[in-house]
Amino acid sequence: MGVSLPPKPNDIADRFCNDSETIKLASTDYGHIVQEIPAAVFHPTSVNDTAILINFAYNNNTTVPITIAARGRGHSVRGQAMARGGVVVNMTSLENRINGSGISVSRSPFLGFFADVGGEQLWIDVLHATLEHGLSPVSWTDYLYLTVGGTLSNAGISGQTFRFGPQISNVYELDVITGKGDIVTCSTKENSELYYAVLGGLGQFGIITRARIALKPAPTRVKWLRMLYNDFSAFSRDQEHLISINGRKQGNAFDYLEGMLLLNQAPPDVSFFPEPDQPRIISLVTQHGIIYCIEAAIYYDDRTVNTVDKELQVLVKGLSFLPGFIFEKNVSYVDFVNRVGSEEQILRSKGLWDIPHPWLNLFVPRSRISDFDSGVFKNIILKQNISAGLVLLYPMNRNKWDDNMSAVIPEEDVFYAVSLLRSSGFNTWEAFDRQNEEILQFCENVGIKVQTYLSHYETQESWIKHFGSKWRSFQERKAQFDPKMILAPGQRIFNK
Ligand SMILES: Cc1cc2nc3c(=O)[nH]c(=O)nc-3n(C[C@H](O)[C@H](O)[C@H](O)COP(=O)(O)OP(=O)(O)OC[C@H]3O[C@@H](n4cnc5c(N)ncnc54)[C@H](O)[C@@H]3O)c2cc1C
Repeated sequence: MGVSLPPKPNDIADRFCNDSETIKLASTDYGHIVQEIPAAVFHPTSVNDTAILINFAYNNNTTVPITIAARGRGHSVRGQAMARGGVVVNMTSLENRINGSGISVSRSPFLGFFADVGGEQLWIDVLHATLEHGLSPVSWTDYLYLTVGGTLSNAGISGQTFRFGPQISNVYELDVITGKGDIVTCSTKENSELYYAVLGGLGQFGIITRARIALKPAPTRVKWLRMLYNDFSAFSRDQEHLISINGRKQGNAFDYLEGMLLLNQAPPDVSFFPEPDQPRIISLVTQHGIIYCIEAAIYYDDRTVNTVDKELQVLVKGLSFLPGFIFEKNVSYVDFVNRVGSEEQILRSKGLWDIPHPWLNLFVPRSRISDFDSGVFKNIILKQNISAGLVLLYPMNRNKWDDNMSAVIPEEDVFYAVSLLRSSGFNTWEAFDRQNEEILQFCENVGIKVQTYLSHYETQESWIKHFGSKWRSFQERKAQFDPKMILAPGQRIFNK
């Protein structure tokens, strides 16, 4: 490979691999755009192994510092979990260590129910393990084959965020191995600076080896709705109204709210809708070029089965969707939260999973979302022949986020998550990327202060701009917890 590491400590020497297959896997990710070749992949069998590795790197005085990247499942799209010439820690090797399953459920008088979960665990496994106790986390990502450490390093958002906050707002405590190789337990009360740094911290301050996740009684079933709009202001007004009622007692608000665009660019995916209705939905999209869809869900169980329909009626009363264009599915809770898992299987079977993903994820302030709609969706996207992929668009409440944490969001009380989840060919992703750049440039030109999510930048200047007023504390925390800049080099914040 042309890169070699200094002699390794004896007790972990046999955990390193550098056969070509292993190196190849660690050199790529879900994005299939960036490739960075590490010197070795490390397979820890315990948290201690990883602490020894980081401590070794911290005390190593060779001219080229050793860099280390935790790799959850490599579901990043721009090399964020890679380490050029460094060591990639394959977090998967840590599975099955806490109580044999990596996940344990407990209750405390102060916190109620919680799960202690290894940072390497997949959210799908957290779901199944907690359901065995009739419990569930409250805040999810759309796709559950992501690791706990990976999503907590970003934020972890989905349709529950408006109500329960992102996943980082639902963590009581963490165990973290810092960039000095120290294993530290942290929470809002103990080592709080590290706790706040790590949540949304892009892997810069330590490797999360355990997270204590808040749990609530799990529902069993879900009423899952989609409502269609041809008018953006009616769509966003209704979305904002629905997230404004999150503060009332459970049962009076939706448990989940997202939104998406149906675009006339490529044949829109109408598989959610009943087959007999699909032709009239396609014709609606053809007629308007763009149709907005609110996706909302309400959970229920045996206790509430007789009242859920009444609650739904109250919630949708007064909404301005197109008459006759409201659709409902009744599914199990597991099928609902794991809904993208079945889509993955379909895409895999068509060879459309392991291909480039030039995604663009943004947070857009509420006050400019209408300008974003006219400038980006109706202009840049509709007028060019480049597929926007699946476009998600939904609002969330800033007061469900904690500003002490590293994640960066717009200043306004309400902001929208906008995701252009594009797929491309191996030779065409650059055209998609150019359109992403055009969108960002448009926002800059007209003064829409967007924040990127799952960000990637080439220069530190861009990161400084990204973090804005948070940059200083981000930098200070880096100096405190990873002074030799060993961790997560693939984010390119402190490493070139
Ligand atoms: C199909 C799909 C759907 C998605 N849907 C959503 C969604 O709905 N909402 C959402 O918020 N995100 C979503 N994501 C993005 C996802 O949150 C990120 O890809 C995230 O990085 C998790 O992936 P991973 O666990 O494989 O982490 P990786 O890609 O392996 O790592 C991501 C970063 O975190 C660091 N890291 C990994 N593990 C740890 C750890 N234990 N401690 C500290 N740092 C660590 C890595 O070094 C890297 O910098 C989706 C991604 C995909 C591919």
